[in-house]
Amino acid sequence: MLVKGVAFYLDSELPFEARSLLEDFRLAVNNAIRAGLQARVTSRNALNKIAYKDFRQEHPRMYAQHLVSAFEVAGSVLKNHRRRVRKGVTGGVPYVKRLMMKAENQAYKLNRKTGIIDLPIRAGCHVELRLVVSQYHRKYLDDAALSLGSLTILPDRAIVAFRKDAPKPFVPESALSLDTNERSLDGVFVEGDVAKAVKAEFPDIAIIQQRHHDRRRRLQKKKAHDHRTSSNLCRREGTREHRRVDYRLHQVANSILKFAEERNSAIVLEDLKGMRSKRSKELNRRLSMWPRRKLHQIIEYKAQWKGIPVVKVDPRNSSRTCPICGRVQGSRMGVEFKCECGWHLDRHINASMNLLQTAISNGMAGGLWFNPGAFQHDVMMILYEPAMAARSEPNGTSGIVGGT
Ligand SMILES: [Zn+2]
Repeated sequence: MLVKGVAFYLDSELPFEARSLLEDFRLAVNNAIRAGLQARVTSRNALNKIAYKDFRQEHPRMYAQHLVSAFEVAGSVLKNHRRRVRKGVTGGVPYVKRLMMKAENQAYKLNRKTGIIDLPIRAGCHVELRLVVSQYHRKYLDDAALSLGSLTILPDRAIVAFRKDAPKPFVPESALSLDTNERSLDGVFVEGDVAKAVKAEFPDIAIIQQRHHDRRRRLQKKKAHDHRTSSNLCRREGTREHRRVDYRLHQVANSILKFAEERNSAIVLEDLKGMRSKRSKELNRRLSMWPRRKLHQIIEYKAQWKGIPVVKVDPRNSSRTCPICGRVQGSRMGVEFKCECGWHLDRHINASMNLLQTAISNGMAGGLWFNPGAFQHDVMMILYEPAMAARSEPNGTSGIVGGT
């Protein structure tokens, strides 16, 4: 099952009853978190057992399903907390600061024609929330293949989860193989007898990361005497950085997927899983590995949603192998890959050819074949460049919730 969260602004301010429900919900989550920490449990059912009765006494009229959903939210906060503790990066008891609530799909009604949500507060008390519906939202509301999942309500927004079964990937008629680098995706597009170089450049992402990294360093130094202020400021920097990088990653992924969709292409990517960051160079690595993995996640997720096949292959030796004669070069290459057989090519594009050959020899569907000799050295197709993102950045109105 695939899930996509779509954010809607609310037409007017939250009614008083809904606002107090959000406050109660947050209280329930934070109480459950404390109870869960004490009892060392994280599952919704276990939290239900230890916290339900107490909370029921304090809020006897709150809709029971909202309460259960609060335990679910608390459970996921606790699981994240436990993961951080295990990694050794934690401070204190976690809590939910933001005013919010989550309702499972049985606990609210959305009229998909009018965009009006019917939210039960307690027995005999419902409120209506009117969503602002644009053309973008219509696509989701009107698509009968999408069912409704959970609803998250914030003071000014509602996020509706739309769900669907993953469509069966199409049989590819061409292939787009991409080598993932710090500032670009470089690759080769193959259709019939023709093979061309492709490029999607995102140099601004590394620049943003570096700038925020430096700023955090400076903040830490300047506020060294005040740990709390320093870590608050750093966290805010981090959120801002994530949002800016995320926006660009989505843009890059969208242009890749549009290209693949129009040409019925399979997408070939390297499997980054094997490249776990080493502790010693952790900071440097994290700086460069995080957006690449994230970019892959976004591409894979969006491809699944659209039924575009994605093949991941082991990248071992992909940057050192000659696609013509198969020799493996001993040392790392410069910008250009050179082989004794006379073959030479941009190192990254060469790597993408090897990824493609691995994918094909692993039996990539569709009977595709690839002849590196047919590569057109003088053509470069630009799939994405920063100028394409020139329009202003939105403040995060849509996001992926994650698949199950
Ligand atoms: Zn060679």
